[in-house]
Amino acid sequence: MKQELIYEGKAKQLYASSNQGEVIIHYKDDATAFNGIKKASIENKGILNNAISTRIYRYLGEHGIRTHYLETLNESDQRCLAVTIIPLEVIVRNVAAGSFSKRLQVEEGTPLQHVVFELCYKNDDLGDPLINDDHALALGIATEADLAQIRAMTFSINQLLIQLFLQCSIELIDFKIEFGKTASGELVLADEISPDSCRLWDMESHEKLDKDRFRRDLGKVQEAYQEILDRLIGVLDK
Ligand code: UDP
Repeated sequence: MKQELIYEGKAKQLYASSNQGEVIIHYKDDATAFNGIKKASIENKGILNNAISTRIYRYLGEHGIRTHYLETLNESDQRCLAVTIIPLEVIVRNVAAGSFSKRLQVEEGTPLQHVVFELCYKNDDLGDPLINDDHALALGIATEADLAQIRAMTFSINQLLIQLFLQCSIELIDFKIEFGKTASGELVLADEISPDSCRLWDMESHEKLDKDRFRRDLGKVQEAYQEILDRLIGVLDK
């Protein structure tokens, strides 16, 4: 049962649960971009992201990825394992876009000759700076064993997500994931996987079906998220 609010983030709220070792995650309609400078509420975003993340987490779980996800309780809430989040944004890039394109002057949409794995230090005051493994070790953010496991799990997750979205006629350009440690010390995938945290382009038209519609004022944000959900339902809810 949902108890007191423990933490409020930009897009979700975390509630204590009457079940030991669990939390309840509530998906909000709020959207932010550019480190919180741009803010809006997108109608139904919480419901859509809960439904999308639920399906992606179940799919990853069925394919052997250990995650924090336990159960979807209603249209906005999930029951998850309580974890201590490792303050790293783990980013995978299959195609150039966003900050990669800007920083390295590579045109958006250019396929990459090698999958790029990036770490950012999750720290709003610093604007989530890009760091490397040595920085993460030096700051005590993670151990070498954690980093090796994060990298291996992340590459498996990338392969699984590429395959899933391919079946939806969607190209997985890039995405961000987070990891946490359970009370017993197990490393698990945590946080959401949704159009808020992935770049997803229609395979044929290359239309953006993700948060870039909000970041770049392209309109039809809700419609794009609904499209992602509908395609996932078509593939996964048989
Ligand atoms: N991303 C995210 N949260 C962040 C930063 C990035 O979910 O705080 C996702 C983003 O949606 C994209 C990927 O990580 O799918 C790579 O983002 P990028 O570094 O290009 O940053 P951006 O252009 O969004 O600033």
